Amino acid sequence: MSNLEDLYREIILDHYRSPRNRGELPSPPAHKVEGFNPLCGDEVTLYLDVHDGVLSDIKLTGHGCSISQSSSSLMSAAVKGKPLNDVNATIETFKQLMTGHESALTTEEEADEEVDLRTLGELAALQGVVKFPVRIKCATLAWNALRQGLDEIANQN
Ligand code: ZN
Repeated sequence: MSNLEDLYREIILDHYRSPRNRGELPSPPAHKVEGFNPLCGDEVTLYLDVHDGVLSDIKLTGHGCSISQSSSSLMSAAVKGKPLNDVNATIETFKQLMTGHESALTTEEEADEEVDLRTLGELAALQGVVKFPVRIKCATLAWNALRQGLDEIANQN
């Protein structure tokens, strides 16, 4: 178990130190959406390019704690270039991870065997966050911004 926690910590630190998809896209045409977590002072700005039902590109800027920034980096890597159906499914799965697994995590061996942790790939590194409720808003910040941005894009059409 400690090895797995070490691995998760490594993944989070790696994405914090070397954030993926950092930067901006020209907006417009890219859709810009901002998220702010006043509890922690975390900020994230997403730039989303959607073409033909695919999230063809995503860039982000922001600052804040390691959880918020690594979560946004992990998110961008997980959804970039994916069809919106897959992106929506990943958002839902991640939100479940942040809300639905609180009881499961009291028996950690069982939680680690959940199938959806494997489908999450590196995102599973953030599952430990649910043990620290104050951190959940840090972890979900970029995801809520992504959800909002995609909804705004859908409403434009
Ligand atoms: Zn934070």
